[in-house]
Amino acid sequence: MSFDDLGLSPELLKAVADAGYTTPTPIQRQAIPVVLMGRDVLGCAQTGTGKTAGFTLPMIDILAGGRARARMPRSLILEPTRELAQQVAESFEKYGKHHKLNMALLIGGTSMDDQKAVLQRGVDVLIATPGRLLDLFDRGQILLADCKLLVIDEADRMLDMGFIPDIEKIVGRLPQQRQTLFFSATMPPEIRRLADKFLSNPKAISVDPPASAAVTVTQALIRTSMDPKVKREALRTLLRSEEIASALIFCNRKRDVALLHKSLERHGFNAKALHGDMSQPARTETLDQFRAGKAQLLVCSDVAARGLDIPAVSHVFNFDVPIHAEDYVHRIGRTGRAGRSGKAFTLATPADSKFLASIRHITKKDIPEITLEGIAAPAEGEAPAREERRGRGRSERGERSDRRGRGRGRAREEATVAETPVAEPVPADVLATEVPAVEAPAEVANDAVVAEIVPARRRHERPASDEGRRSAGRRERREEPRQGGRGEPRDRRPSDEPHHPTSTFGDHTPAFLLRPTRAVG
Ligand code: AMP
Repeated sequence: MSFDDLGLSPELLKAVADAGYTTPTPIQRQAIPVVLMGRDVLGCAQTGTGKTAGFTLPMIDILAGGRARARMPRSLILEPTRELAQQVAESFEKYGKHHKLNMALLIGGTSMDDQKAVLQRGVDVLIATPGRLLDLFDRGQILLADCKLLVIDEADRMLDMGFIPDIEKIVGRLPQQRQTLFFSATMPPEIRRLADKFLSNPKAISVDPPASAAVTVTQALIRTSMDPKVKREALRTLLRSEEIASALIFCNRKRDVALLHKSLERHGFNAKALHGDMSQPARTETLDQFRAGKAQLLVCSDVAARGLDIPAVSHVFNFDVPIHAEDYVHRIGRTGRAGRSGKAFTLATPADSKFLASIRHITKKDIPEITLEGIAAPAEGEAPAREERRGRGRSERGERSDRRGRGRGRAREEATVAETPVAEPVPADVLATEVPAVEAPAEVANDAVVAEIVPARRRHERPASDEGRRSAGRRERREEPRQGGRGEPRDRRPSDEPHHPTSTFGDHTPAFLLRPTRAVG
């Protein structure tokens, strides 16, 4: 089957050919004709399957006929993270370049004034993260009554990030008569319930996870000590032994992203860091630099890196074994994309055995173990105490690593202390390029860091009052900072409080915020 058989307009077929696609992927083959018919879709598919084109291509043809009115978007795409929203916006530009549709991207951390101006001019496609959309809705800047086409993307990720109440609010403001496309990589019962609520007689579509990760990614596991200093040394040895075009290095926690980034820079590596506590302009700039090849290594957290599509990534390093096995699949899927080959290395300590077991459970195989010269194996009987205690902190996904009492959102509800801020004492080995010279102080400094972590370990204890628990839950649950301060709940922000955006684009309206997608002639 070719794209010609899917019922798309000649303009779209040209855009698809310009993108270099010759054959539709399975999700595109299944979804495009159904969406063009106006039916709801319940799609079980991950990033990497061509899902974005699966919904954006038919949307462009559906929307081509009408005209947008001020502040009344005609369609809405909800994404869990800013990076994914940006990626979808880029796809829209690519596929819609022969059409005259207006698109707006509403994400936290960028100027709200620019976004208001764009909405005022009328948009056909609104791509948004839930928090920013609700903020603008509450300020009367958006009316959703004309929004007849809704896409909820990465629904399971929305659930992980605590966005479901926001999604329910948003959907409650859309017209009943609409077409809804609902995508999720997995279908746990909570997601099923939502799908039943939002969709009407949907066509169920399911595609396998992209085969590329399994087929084109060479995986390896290296056993190492739990001592972070030794782990960093092991990583450096690996980095030096591999021919790396560009690489993502995953840590489980934001603070470790910052520490490892500093350490790598001190040791002369060309590295950048990306995590959810950074301002949006900083995140965008970092990603742009990494995409452009100006930084070879990107140390990142799962939240920031989810779904990133950067074809040149030759390597993925798991500095930490992911707490959630499905994140392992997502992480290694960042390399070996579009049929290229890639390598994924995982550093595993004696404390990681249960996480490795769950990876084995979902991938149905062991990660092949290798030993590398110069990488210290864990000492016989190394006690996992310290690492396990650390493991009971929070990942950036805001969940407990031991998953006890999980029920997904529940862990967030019980949170009492937000993630440890990134600015923390830095172990001496991070500051010193030559480790041996500072061996003794390094221990002291490392202990200082451990001492820092101890109060944070108590974060699973319940707060004294219910209000404390509720407000802590609200603080913790968002990846996307609200306008008016990170994690500050909207309902506690005085309505007349002066608006101080975290950062702005100044006088310049970025091209991606408003660009007629036409580029004909
Ligand atoms: P997605 O799953 O939407 O994130 O897409 C993953 C990658 O596949 C992106 O780099 C797309 O540009 C690419 N892609 C999407 N559809 C096709 C296709 N039909 N042929 C080749 N590449 C595609």
